[in-house]
Amino acid sequence: MKYKKPICECGKELTITAVFSCDILWTINSNGKRSKKHTFSADTQSGEHLECECGADYEIDFDEKGRILRGKEYSPV
Ligand SMILES: [Zn+2]
Repeated sequence: MKYKKPICECGKELTITAVFSCDILWTINSNGKRSKKHTFSADTQSGEHLECECGADYEIDFDEKGRILRGKEYSPV
């Protein structure tokens, strides 16, 4: 079966969205200031989902070859 990109009900292509929370860690230098060096620590806060610019959200699903498909539509909150 030929792969078809996931399309929204409105006909537009969907994009993958994931929410991350990101911590930035600075070391403190001997002058008591924040040092220029910092590291990022990112965590996925919620699972990936598919989103359309019209505002519709869908679960992300995969076919047997691991290709992205449109899953169930999230019910509006
Ligand atoms: Zn749409």
